[in-house]
Amino acid sequence: MTKVGVNGYGTIGKRVADAVEAQPDMELVGVAKTRPNFEAEAAVRNGYPLYAAVAERADRFAEAGLELAGEVEELVVAADVVVDCTPSGIGAENAARYEAHDTPAIFQGGEDADVADVSFNARANYADAVGADSARVVSCNTTGLARILAPLDETYGVEKARVTLVRRGGDLGQTDRGPIDDILPDPVTLPSHHGPDVNTILPDIDIDTLGLKVPATLMHTHSVNVTLESSPDADDVRDLFADETRLFQIPATADIDGAGKLKEFANDAGRPRGDLWENCIWSESITVEDRDLYLFQAIHQESDVVPENVDAIRALTGDADAAESRATTEDAMGVGIDYGR
Ligand code: NAD
Repeated sequence: MTKVGVNGYGTIGKRVADAVEAQPDMELVGVAKTRPNFEAEAAVRNGYPLYAAVAERADRFAEAGLELAGEVEELVVAADVVVDCTPSGIGAENAARYEAHDTPAIFQGGEDADVADVSFNARANYADAVGADSARVVSCNTTGLARILAPLDETYGVEKARVTLVRRGGDLGQTDRGPIDDILPDPVTLPSHHGPDVNTILPDIDIDTLGLKVPATLMHTHSVNVTLESSPDADDVRDLFADETRLFQIPATADIDGAGKLKEFANDAGRPRGDLWENCIWSESITVEDRDLYLFQAIHQESDVVPENVDAIRALTGDADAAESRATTEDAMGVGIDYGR
């Protein structure tokens, strides 16, 4: 059993903790929180040992009636692998602590690539992280792009990818984010950081990305154009994607016109927190003109990186190869949508 600690128990951390807890070969040894808020209360309710992320604030947990198992230093010592799910930039500050205890660490996409030995996506470059001391799971958008570009490049060759990312302004709980009534080119200059981020895991893909931010919380949407090196027809691409368990092709009959209905679908399917771990690709949008492939996909920013974090843990420990790890992760979490069943 691999003992896993989660430092930072917010949007990503709580999902990673639940996913780790579900794995047959992993044990969640605890989660670290800075504040005794509702998420800390949920951790305790779930029976997860709760550690104070900031020693000086430990008293506040007792005042809120929440029992601590210790301080984050002890969690790092107890864990075989720490998954750092703290806000962007804090992971880099925490890296020295993990190194000091020789505890392999996984960081999130909000960190710069140099925070870790390797940037990671389970479909694109699992083997690069095997046995490494640290890995950075690339961001939600980069994860969504890697999952389609890797199979397209392997099967048809990618000459050039051009992607416009329409990004949600903030997550549900991010009441300080925006815009609330605008559409922002973000950044206004090219490229957005997503293309270069794809190249941290797929260095040979020629890709340009543009970003926009809109008043939405539910999901991101990508408008994708990939010039291929050969000319499959649209059904060939659909068949290729059908073999990828982390790609869900939304059938026309589903009558799902956007992120709202996708989330309803996830809730109706009993997904925890309405999570959609898979890329959601509108099947009807898959079009090939000569060598140009077009499609729309929606990416659930809060959850698509979660199975990737679980796989990253196995890559660092070297306990499984990519196919074994992905299958175990998916089995334990219930990743993969067989629509109609
Ligand atoms: P979040 O703000 O929801 O959660 C972060 C948690 O860490 C909070 O509970 C916060 O209190 C806690 N924290 C703050 N400082 C800490 C410290 N020093 N030690 C321990 N905990 C601390 O953030 P998030 O959305 O979960 O993002 C975490 C990381 O995941 C970031 O790098 C982000 O870029 C990345 N990410 C986020 C999303 C998303 O859409 N939310 C998607 C993919 C990747």
